[in-house]
Amino acid sequence: MNIWKAFEIAAEAAISKDDRRSFSLGACGIRGDGAVVKAANAPTIQPDRKVHAEYRLSQKLDVGAIVYVARVSRKDGSYEIAKPCFSCEKVLRSRGVKKIYYTISGSEYGCIDLRRTRKFEKISQLLKDSNR
Ligand SMILES: [Zn+2]
Repeated sequence: MNIWKAFEIAAEAAISKDDRRSFSLGACGIRGDGAVVKAANAPTIQPDRKVHAEYRLSQKLDVGAIVYVARVSRKDGSYEIAKPCFSCEKVLRSRGVKKIYYTISGSEYGCIDLRRTRKFEKISQLLKDSNR
């Protein structure tokens, strides 16, 4: 899928929640089996990674998925930097996600290639073995 199209899907998930925050964050994933899944983050009083869109999305992902994260300004709808926090990156890696794309601005995005880590090799092998 086109990266900006995937960000659009993530952004739609983000703004589907109506609240008073200054930004919304959404994530979408293209699963290894081709299915598209979405999640949005939620407002919280205490910081809690379990409300992060990426964490919520991770519950719906399979091995080999690609994740797209978009942060949308509530003011003008523009894309802002949506680099996943360390904790979410760890969770996504443990699910066997291949790559994470995230918005930086309306014309830039970033990519974390989780396959470039030795941990990924190890985990995806473990997951494959456990599925046999
Ligand atoms: Zn996070």
